[in-house]
Amino acid sequence: MTSTQEFKVSLRKDDVVQVLSGRDKGKIGKVLSINLKSGAVTVEKINLVKRHMKPSQTNPQGGILEKEIPLSYAKVLLFCDTCKRGVRHGKKLEKSAGKKKGEAAKASRIRFCKRCKNGLGAA
Ligand SMILES: [Zn+2]
Repeated sequence: MTSTQEFKVSLRKDDVVQVLSGRDKGKIGKVLSINLKSGAVTVEKINLVKRHMKPSQTNPQGGILEKEIPLSYAKVLLFCDTCKRGVRHGKKLEKSAGKKKGEAAKASRIRFCKRCKNGLGAA
C-alpha cells in the first residue's frame, strides 16, 4: 500500500450520473469534480447541506448557503440516455475506418452501456 494510490474512477467532470443510495437516491446530476485520492465525486445539487452564514461585510444580509458535499464514486452510476437510468459501463476499443483508401484505421477507447450497448462517450 502506498499513499499515492489513486482510485480508478472512470467518471469525468460533466458526466451525468444517478445516485444509488442515501438521501438523494434516484436523483440525477452533473459531476462537478472528482477527487481521485479519496474516490469522492461532487455532483450538482446532490448531497446538499445548508450553511447558515453570519452577516459579514461581503454579505451583509447573512443567510443560508447551500453547498454540495462529495460522495463516494461507488454510490453513483453513469446515466444512460437510452436506458433512462444509471448503468454499469464498460470500455472498449472502437475502430473507425480511415477516411482515405489505404489509411490505417484508428482505434479510440470509448465507454459503453453494459445494458443497451450504446456508446457513452470517449473513455
Ligand atoms: Zn443503456
